[in-house]
Amino acid sequence: TDFIEQTLSAPENAEESALRPLSFHDFAGQDKTLERLKVMVGAARDRGEPLNHILLSGPPGLGKTTLSLILGNEMGTKVNITSGPVIDKPADLAGLLTNLNEGDILFIDEIHRIPKTVEEYLYSAMEDFRIDIMIDQGPNARSVRLNLPRFTLLGATTRMGLLTAPLRSRFTLQTRLNYYSHSVLQGIIERTCGILEVPFEPAGAAEIARRARGTPRIANNLVNFCRDYAQQRGNGTITQTSAAAALELLEIDQRGLDEMDKQVIRVMAENYRGGPVGLGTVAVAVGEEAHTLEEVHEPFLIQEGYLQRTAQGRVLTEKGWHVIGLEPGNQPSN
Ligand code: ADP
Repeated sequence: TDFIEQTLSAPENAEESALRPLSFHDFAGQDKTLERLKVMVGAARDRGEPLNHILLSGPPGLGKTTLSLILGNEMGTKVNITSGPVIDKPADLAGLLTNLNEGDILFIDEIHRIPKTVEEYLYSAMEDFRIDIMIDQGPNARSVRLNLPRFTLLGATTRMGLLTAPLRSRFTLQTRLNYYSHSVLQGIIERTCGILEVPFEPAGAAEIARRARGTPRIANNLVNFCRDYAQQRGNGTITQTSAAAALELLEIDQRGLDEMDKQVIRVMAENYRGGPVGLGTVAVAVGEEAHTLEEVHEPFLIQEGYLQRTAQGRVLTEKGWHVIGLEPGNQPSN
């Protein structure tokens, strides 16, 4: 597996946690989402009520978990973190919900992966703050109503399209995080260097920002590697030259594309004349999980204009063809 995928799937370590912004003030970028959240937090606090339910969507590493912790800080409430696949059966959900205190936040990461049998219980929990669960079996089976404290559900998903309409409609706010601009990322990188006490030149930070796929988590991990590289092969300072050399070593090119991105493009061009082709087919050809392509690689390739999603399948754009030095439709000469 490559650096990008590893970075996005690995659990967070202590050093990374130290980099998390703790308040709205420290959180860079995502202006629209931030403004929406500030309005809701302000209103909830003025009324002395729990925050309404919120759904955050967007590719991994853009700050969904960070925002949920910030919302907890701003509301002065506890954030209980769990994730969709962990909530296996209705009783698991009941256990989580009955442990909450009034005003607590329940953060469910990957909420699209909650089993359907559990999801239905979430509806009444979110709407009426109660759930009816069945206890016992056979002739003794009966339904018991549990009243819940008024809590806030924060859902996070990388795959908005997989959420059912009834679940989606129960969130007061649905807001999408977008890839960060190079300049905002540069600011995040400089802040990270400051916290880690790594000497850097702004041009070095800018070089990392250009290649970090608009993603703070990737940017922070690149800073770590660039720091090691500068210490081992340079003079200890992250300069443009040392950052560029470090990123070449990781096979992340000047556009932020990694080997897997390029392999996807190559397969589409060489095997499928640029498409349209189904993502599953491409996944098999490049030897990668379809969901990783869909969550990590494809959104970035689409956002940067290398790839388009059509009703017939994925299609390479002119810009995509140029990545491998070909004109659209031209077969490589062997
Ligand atoms: P997600 O939950 O969307 O996968 P995270 O909230 O875990 O993403 O963010 C990954 C890391 O990126 C965090 O540890 C945090 O340090 C950093 N990060 C995310 N968003 C920002 C931001 N806007 N400003 C600074 N750092 C950020």
